[in-house]
Amino acid sequence: MYYGFDVGGTKIEFGAFDNDLNRVATKRVPTPTTDYQELIDTLATLVREADEEFGVEGKIGIGLPGMEEAETGAVLTVNIGAAKGKTLRKDLEAELGGRHVALENDANCFALSEAWDEDLQHYPSVAGLIMGTGFGGGLIYNGKVFSGKNNVAGELGHMRLPLDAWLHLGENAPMFDCGCENKGCIDNYLSGRGFEMLYAHQYGESLKAIQVIENFYAGEEKAVEFVDMYLELVAICFGNMMTALDSHVIVLGGGLSNFDEIYRQVPERMQKHLLSVAKPPAILKAKHGDSGGVRGAAFLNIE
Ligand SMILES: [Zn+2]
Repeated sequence: MYYGFDVGGTKIEFGAFDNDLNRVATKRVPTPTTDYQELIDTLATLVREADEEFGVEGKIGIGLPGMEEAETGAVLTVNIGAAKGKTLRKDLEAELGGRHVALENDANCFALSEAWDEDLQHYPSVAGLIMGTGFGGGLIYNGKVFSGKNNVAGELGHMRLPLDAWLHLGENAPMFDCGCENKGCIDNYLSGRGFEMLYAHQYGESLKAIQVIENFYAGEEKAVEFVDMYLELVAICFGNMMTALDSHVIVLGGGLSNFDEIYRQVPERMQKHLLSVAKPPAILKAKHGDSGGVRGAAFLNIE
């Protein structure tokens, strides 16, 4: 039995999965916002209740918006006030009498959840990329998260734009500041927010991404021109990423991943941005959507 927690800023979702990876239980509770011990108690209580219900000791995984500092285990997060700077994983392990707890960034959990989809399980490597408010991702190799030396592997949004992407944006290219204190991070160009910032920069008009996409389907000239520019930008960035990662498949999540033109156009557009021996990977839409965080967290302990 696998237990997964998706710990967010406002709610904690718990899910239990049987050994065939079918979900057999779901619970949602509010996230304690300031009291750290209350957060630990909330998680431990959900574990104990599930143990009792199923008569087993399930394996525990936690996904959250943030990461552990590799050396100390302190959680770096802006969204979960109660967990900020705390050694959440170790403290929950202690609370549960030394039981192992796995903890990962929620983007890594998203990628892991998709990688364990029955249609994707046979791929040796999966890159899960989130095109939501921000752009991020997770890298899965042989069914396991690769989080690297500092737990930052897969933070592809904080690579700077490749030179060819910069040139593609033209003479008027905007150098956006990033929350990570660098400039020109991919996050601010490929994400839904970046899409809107680029559109505003180019046309002096603030439109929601969904509106631009509607205008695109209606054949409106600016939207058609902009989408053409944006999809090429995505192709350039993905091409550069895939030259490093060479993933067998890319799975997209987040709001912009619902823009079907990405799947229609980006693979073909990527070809010229790869080494000539390389073929673009399949680019697929995420199947597990909002439940990805819990699934992925639970699947952190699959051997
Ligand atoms: Zn950045």
